[in-house]
Amino acid sequence: MAEPKQTELMEKIVSLCKRRGFIFQSSEIYGGINGFWDYGPLGSELKRNVKDAWWRDIVHHREDVVGLDATIIMHPTVWKASGHVDTFSDPMSTCRHCKKLIRADQVWEMLPGQAWVQSLAEVCDVATQSFDSQKLIHWAGRKGKNLAPNLALVRNPEVTLSWLAERSADSAKEPVSATEFYQHLATEQMPVTGLITPCPYCGGELTPPRPFNLMFESWAGPVQSDENKVFLRPETAQAIFAQCKNVMDSSRQRPPFGIGQIGKAFRNEITPRNYTFRSREFEQMELEYFIRPDEATRALFGEVATVPDGGHPGDPQPNWGWQAWHRYWVEERVRFYESIGLSRDTLGFHVQQPDELAHYARATVDILFKFPFSKRDEQGELLGEELEGVAARGDFDLTQHEKFSGKPLTVFEDELRSAWALLSPDTVTEMRDDFIETKTRVAIEKKGMSAADAADSARAEAEVFFERLGKGQYLPHVIEPSAGVDRLVLALIANAYAEETVTDDKGKSETRVVLRFHPRIAPVKVGVFPLLKNKPELVAKAMEVRALLQSHVTVFYDDTGAIGRRYRRQDEAGTPFGVTIDFDTLGEKGDELKDTVTLRDRDSMKQERVKISELLGRILPLMQ
Ligand code: ATP
Repeated sequence: MAEPKQTELMEKIVSLCKRRGFIFQSSEIYGGINGFWDYGPLGSELKRNVKDAWWRDIVHHREDVVGLDATIIMHPTVWKASGHVDTFSDPMSTCRHCKKLIRADQVWEMLPGQAWVQSLAEVCDVATQSFDSQKLIHWAGRKGKNLAPNLALVRNPEVTLSWLAERSADSAKEPVSATEFYQHLATEQMPVTGLITPCPYCGGELTPPRPFNLMFESWAGPVQSDENKVFLRPETAQAIFAQCKNVMDSSRQRPPFGIGQIGKAFRNEITPRNYTFRSREFEQMELEYFIRPDEATRALFGEVATVPDGGHPGDPQPNWGWQAWHRYWVEERVRFYESIGLSRDTLGFHVQQPDELAHYARATVDILFKFPFSKRDEQGELLGEELEGVAARGDFDLTQHEKFSGKPLTVFEDELRSAWALLSPDTVTEMRDDFIETKTRVAIEKKGMSAADAADSARAEAEVFFERLGKGQYLPHVIEPSAGVDRLVLALIANAYAEETVTDDKGKSETRVVLRFHPRIAPVKVGVFPLLKNKPELVAKAMEVRALLQSHVTVFYDDTGAIGRRYRRQDEAGTPFGVTIDFDTLGEKGDELKDTVTLRDRDSMKQERVKISELLGRILPLMQ
């Protein structure tokens, strides 16, 4: 059950975001459009800073990563090859009563946030299934009728109540799970033959789930025919794979190397929710990091190095295999989050279990952030929601694009050809056997192939793969750290939000709302305030300070209202520093204070006198 406190916190965040110009509902004057959001003046700066920080860390600060800026609409076969046309779908149900469309696998996540579930909790304890019949009947006839009119408990309370009463009378019976309990409340016919999963909105019955493809479609050109059908990209990654060869040829990069891209992606989500967390239009920051297959590494270096789980494995080594690279990228990404203010304890990790992994993935670690709306464990601790997935995808994507385009996408390394020629036949046989065994197992477990078909297909793959290696050729394997800009922006806002009680000199207390953004991503870095706006000398000096700072950082100039109020406004915007120009700056108290200003720190609220000439030296290092 969501803590009301957390819901309240989310409401405060949403309201601040609108009031201060971080996030607006798209087309709000027309009533908005579900799943689409605009970023206002502060939000667009924050978002830009997040993307710049990612680009600097991933592309500019590394010798082994280059950038790409590809189109949103690509050749439709790209999506056939990637599997999106056939399999990029979510299970969708329709409520037979209110007709709302619902993502069938998210019903149980959605329920705790629903008004009827929260209201029901006031008269019935779901965990122990204890209740007062009179109150429950009263609830069904009033609040329940209003909030969840299609729940069996509301439509036919006697039947549900008799089931409940029967259970609570039998002390030997343990309470059923919360899931089953809600199903009973939704199911009219008792004894129960098949339990109904309630519609989260009205409690009604849902249709069986059917797959719904999430790609937005359009037509390129004036004719709306099947030949002209195109898709808005649901991820930025596929353009990187499709352009991998061009990038390698033009930038002289060879594995291990990466291609990074930031850009819009579109998914026709069935139930966009949790503010910007699940949107229909969003931005991704994706890196496809291309490495040698382990067999090539072994041939070149005599071994494939692995690294222990936990902690950063250190600088990359030439003999690293995919497992070491995967661990490295998970830890690099955590370092990035720490560098912009998300400490490790605000994050969580979900290591996908073998049954969760896609057939082509060898490992996936989701990096989570503990949002106020995240699920909780049994101890009530927030578990977190996905910010980024770091997947080891093997050579699946390039294999598919090679197959569908008919163009070879292999890399050639002369050293590999020479090293391969020196391998003993036993080593090659051992590698081939391992390859066939792994591929056969995956084909049986993940693709549902018969043992014989799986072995045939694995042997055919091995034929091509080892023949190529012998010629010094291979399709690079991929480690993919894939992050969402909008989810990260929301995480940064939620993480930065704080309320505290402050007392002024006169002993008056008030609540200070402050966004404690890391200076690196704060939308505005410095607020510049002339003490009074009707003193031309103060204003002229303040403008001079603004000009000095503005060529290096974003500055907000504010000359309206009491200085305390101006500080509070910048606290709410998350501005880390305030600079006030007063009469001492003009030298009214002598030369010692002339050309000094008050520098205020947002978090400690401490103020100190600093020379104007030293301001940049104080502020800039904190932005790195
Ligand atoms: P989820 O399971 O939450 O739907 P996913 O596993 O499908 O996410 P990926 O395909 O791995 O997500 O996309 C990479 C990243 O893109 C995600 O970690 C997330 O940050 C972002 N992302 C994906 N879908 C959305 C969305 N609908 N709205 C906002 N960001 C998204």
